[in-house]
Amino acid sequence: MIYVKPAIALLASFVKIIMSFRPKTFQEAKANFKPMKRSRMTIAIGKRNSARRRLMKKQGPKTTEWERVRAWLKIQFAKAGIQTCQLRWAGCAFDNYLGFAHAAKRRNLLDGEIYVVALLCNHCHDVIEIGPPEDMRRIVEGLFALTGIQVPKGSV
Ligand SMILES: [Zn+2]
Repeated sequence: MIYVKPAIALLASFVKIIMSFRPKTFQEAKANFKPMKRSRMTIAIGKRNSARRRLMKKQGPKTTEWERVRAWLKIQFAKAGIQTCQLRWAGCAFDNYLGFAHAAKRRNLLDGEIYVVALLCNHCHDVIEIGPPEDMRRIVEGLFALTGIQVPKGSV
């Protein structure tokens, strides 16, 4: 118990010494500012993140266009009340794994054809892709016509 007081006094003097090293004003702090040394780990993470950003920027104009069109189509299909697979062939997943199917492979799409889609489950989508391309085109175009969705003017 006798040592408590001196111990506190000692601690207080330590704190005083430590505090004396700390800047007292903002100006002083700013003048003494040194950036934290970056560890190899943070440098590596930074490099990885900027590589990722570069990769993400590489998304082509076609992908960006399709993202915009897909968002628009989602609304149109919802408005038309189409929320299940339009084909319902044997093995159909009905309202699971739904996606938009185009009339042709992406690189073979003509102007405006990016809008012409059928809402298909993954199974039915696979089946039409295995078949002849002209059948795929006929099926998708037919199903799209059934939706009554009008492709925006100027995009065809
Ligand atoms: Zn299906």
